[in-house]
Amino acid sequence: MSDATLSAPVAAPIRVQVSQPETPLRDVMAGASRWNIPIHEHGFIALVDAMPRLVPEGQTADSAIVQSARVSYGQGTRMVSEDRGLVRYLMRHRHSTPFEMVEFKFHIAMPIFIARQWIRHRTANVNEYSARYSIMPDRFYRPDIENVRKQSKSNRQGGEGPIEAGTAEEFLRLLEGAEANYQKYLELTERGVARELARAVLPVSVYTEWYWKCDLHNIFHFLSLRMDPHAQIEIQDYAKAMYELIKPIVPTACEAFEDYRLNAMHLTGLEIEAIRSGKPLATENKRETAEWEAKKVQLGL
Ligand SMILES: Cc1cc2nc3c(=O)[nH]c(=O)nc-3n(C[C@H](O)[C@H](O)[C@H](O)COP(=O)(O)OP(=O)(O)OC[C@H]3O[C@@H](n4cnc5c(N)ncnc54)[C@H](O)[C@@H]3O)c2cc1C
Repeated sequence: MSDATLSAPVAAPIRVQVSQPETPLRDVMAGASRWNIPIHEHGFIALVDAMPRLVPEGQTADSAIVQSARVSYGQGTRMVSEDRGLVRYLMRHRHSTPFEMVEFKFHIAMPIFIARQWIRHRTANVNEYSARYSIMPDRFYRPDIENVRKQSKSNRQGGEGPIEAGTAEEFLRLLEGAEANYQKYLELTERGVARELARAVLPVSVYTEWYWKCDLHNIFHFLSLRMDPHAQIEIQDYAKAMYELIKPIVPTACEAFEDYRLNAMHLTGLEIEAIRSGKPLATENKRETAEWEAKKVQLGL
């Protein structure tokens, strides 16, 4: 055997086959670089990109969901109504991966106490403003006086209804006092205190910013938890705005989400038995009974 036959084979050049679309495409964000919704005094949520960004004219990004779901059968030609039926079937049966084929990227500014709740959603890709690297901007969340809520008696995690004006004013003055540390923060960083330490004096009402990219399946999970009345109102405001941003881009998936998740109800085995037998819920747990009573009202029972 000669030396030449032992040497490594020369790799074949890699060729990329480029296909042109069969029909004209349209941009799901209509050529915009950003769809922005201001939230409260200093916050915002902006949609900055979507995948798919380009879809065949006359279609929505829902097409990426049906395209991936039909991979096993081949693309074929389908009526829009069949696509809608498929999306709704997938949602009803929790066949979730086709919804992961759609992604959205947002730029968001929110107070740190909201970011703390938001970051618990682990399936997104996040890149946040660095308060080690940069000075925090002078922006703080302060509710309007009528939005200073009372501690809820029924929900230890929630607030309900406005508190009387005197107490609300006192609370707002306290917030203002906490914000007053900002000048000291600036001064001490100018005198050389490291930003990573100096930030410790800032209250959790200070605003942070991040880019947040997530697929539609996990966005729906986020929205079902954070648009829910049990979530804190401030994060509900962001979640509702996020929903408004994605709805025109994936209207069919959003319709299915509303019908089968957002406005749907989960019944426990005990609850089904109570309906079937007409007897009270077979539990002595007060919270579970209260939850059942609330569901009965919703069901008109
Ligand atoms: C009203 C409300 C009150 C809350 N109160 C509290 C509280 O008092 N204290 C507190 O700490 N948190 C609290 N949370 C946060 C909550 O417990 C969840 O952490 C948060 O809602 C994110 O949910 P998730 O884990 O399902 O979402 P994601 O992190 O987005 O995950 C989506 C899904 O992916 C899967 N997944 C993701 N990561 C993992 C993993 N590492 N291992 C296994 N499965 C994974 C799970 O199926 C999960 O449901 C509260 C949330 C809400 C909405």
